[in-house]
Amino acid sequence: MFCRYCGKELKDTATVCTACGKPVDALSSGAAPKGSRWSFSEMVGLIGATLFIPPVGIVMGLLGLRNEAKKVQAAILLTISVFMSLVMLAVVLGL
Ligand SMILES: [Zn+2]
Repeated sequence: MFCRYCGKELKDTATVCTACGKPVDALSSGAAPKGSRWSFSEMVGLIGATLFIPPVGIVMGLLGLRNEAKKVQAAILLTISVFMSLVMLAVVLGL
C-alpha cells in the first residue's frame, strides 16, 4: 500500500508512514476498501423512502450496520425509521 499523505510505498503491516510519520489508515490506502459510504444522493433517497416506508430504513440500516464504512449513516437511518415508526403508530392509534 501507499501513504495517503506523501505517496511512499509502505509495508502492508505498517501503521505509521516511515517517510512522513503520519498514521496509516488501512481504509484509505491503495487496497480495495471494505465498503463505501452511501453517497449524498443515496442518503437523501434512503431517508426519503424511510419517511414514507419506515421498514425500508430499518432493513437498509441493519444491512448498513454490517458495513464498517456505512455504520454512522446506517445508525442515522435506523434512528429516523424508528422515529417514523412511532409517529405512524401514533397516527394509526389516533393518539
Ligand atoms: Zn507518508
